[in-house]
Amino acid sequence: MSRVYNFCAGPAALPERVLAQAQADLLDWQGHGLSVMEMSHRGEHFQHIAHESEQDLRALLNIPEHYKVLFLQGGASSQFAMVPLNLLGNKTQASYINTGQWSKKAISEAKRFAQVEIAASSEAQDYVSVPASHELSISKDSAYLHYTPNETIGGLSFDYIPDITIPLVADYSSAILSQPLDIERFGLIYAGAQKNIGPAGLCLVIVREDLLGSAQAQTPAMLNYQTLADAGSMYNTPPTFSWYLAGLVFKWLKDEIGGLANMAVINQRKADKLYTYLDGQDFYANPINPAHRSMMNVPFTLAEPALEQTFLQDAKQAGLLNLAGHRSVGGMRASIYNAVPEAAIDALLEFMQDFVRQKG
Ligand code: PMP
Repeated sequence: MSRVYNFCAGPAALPERVLAQAQADLLDWQGHGLSVMEMSHRGEHFQHIAHESEQDLRALLNIPEHYKVLFLQGGASSQFAMVPLNLLGNKTQASYINTGQWSKKAISEAKRFAQVEIAASSEAQDYVSVPASHELSISKDSAYLHYTPNETIGGLSFDYIPDITIPLVADYSSAILSQPLDIERFGLIYAGAQKNIGPAGLCLVIVREDLLGSAQAQTPAMLNYQTLADAGSMYNTPPTFSWYLAGLVFKWLKDEIGGLANMAVINQRKADKLYTYLDGQDFYANPINPAHRSMMNVPFTLAEPALEQTFLQDAKQAGLLNLAGHRSVGGMRASIYNAVPEAAIDALLEFMQDFVRQKG
């Protein structure tokens, strides 16, 4: 069996050790004669899996007691609606920073429920940098400030956490668990699982307890954080297998990587290798302001766009998959999440250099 190097933006590569563990557990989880997929979510075995995964996540991110951790469904996209539904309280206004495609989606969904104020936008600069902290204009009437610390499509990342007095809400889908995070700076963090957490079907929400309990009256039960928190994320049947796999990923981060500080060092090294190469020649290019380049998603263009399809085909032949940029922007993108090994970056760089020698 040979596994390819997978640069997919999501669903993304998973650690091999996690896949091997899931395979070993598949027919018979820990000698109990059934798979995790066949267990009652209310039974003691799954309760144990759920509890342990939460404890491991809490340990990894150093999540304080007064934050709830929710394992939800509906992807990060459901959070675009759940955030305003739950956090507006008696206010009508919310502030959003616009740094790219995912911020824009969050904004357009929020507009169904709230009067959206744009605190800052880098749209006029074609999203090549993030607004500086002193450029943020946040109305005191806003219930919260929402931003996207890492724009998956643009490859744009904040180099600071906004320092504000209203609750800060972050869509951490494509950067969670890539480095340590000071949870107390946030009111709420959400992240779709299919990048750094586990398989699709799960969305993680970390929310400060005092923000629960003020959902709009019409909020459906399945979209109400308080209801979901009270039920331990089991108001209905949760995506048990994805949850279990996320738990295995947390164990991998703890035991094999040695925690998020180590993960950050590895991730930084991977990203630095790629950006250093991109900046040192003129066939490939990355347009993002170096201070705001993503450690997870590295978009790049070819000097001759006509060669893009050949590049992708040859890369595939070389066992380097999913390097096409998002359909909305084109070009290339290497997503180098936690589970993409450093050897994948080395192989990609070698391939890119060869390609220039042959076609450049
Ligand atoms: N936000 C960001 C930053 C994302 O990268 C994505 C998915 N690529 C989403 C939201 C949407 O996630 P989902 O598909 O889980 O709804």
